[in-house]
Amino acid sequence: MRQAKRSYKTRPAHVLAATRKEVATRFKEAKVFFAQGKLELARRRVKQARRAAMKVQLRIPEHWNKYCRQCNSYLQQGRNSTIRLKKGIRIIRCQECGYVRRKIIKK
Ligand SMILES: [Zn+2]
Repeated sequence: MRQAKRSYKTRPAHVLAATRKEVATRFKEAKVFFAQGKLELARRRVKQARRAAMKVQLRIPEHWNKYCRQCNSYLQQGRNSTIRLKKGIRIIRCQECGYVRRKIIKK
């Protein structure tokens, strides 16, 4: 039997809460690994966090500048990423792969 298609709004709240928690934990672990210089493990944690969030279509805006969308690296400003401000746009560059992410800062 085919599973009924669930819309964006009908995800159970407890699932979202659990996922948000999981994502936060993964990012915390990634940070620890990154501090220890274990970049590959940090990258894996970021990947797992993103996959968990994607599965339930959860947005994780609180972590948006902590990882690279392209190579899944954990990013830390001043170490492997740079931030520039340009006319109300925040530009974050991943120094692992060169991916640039721009975000408009609203007044
Ligand atoms: Zn990257």
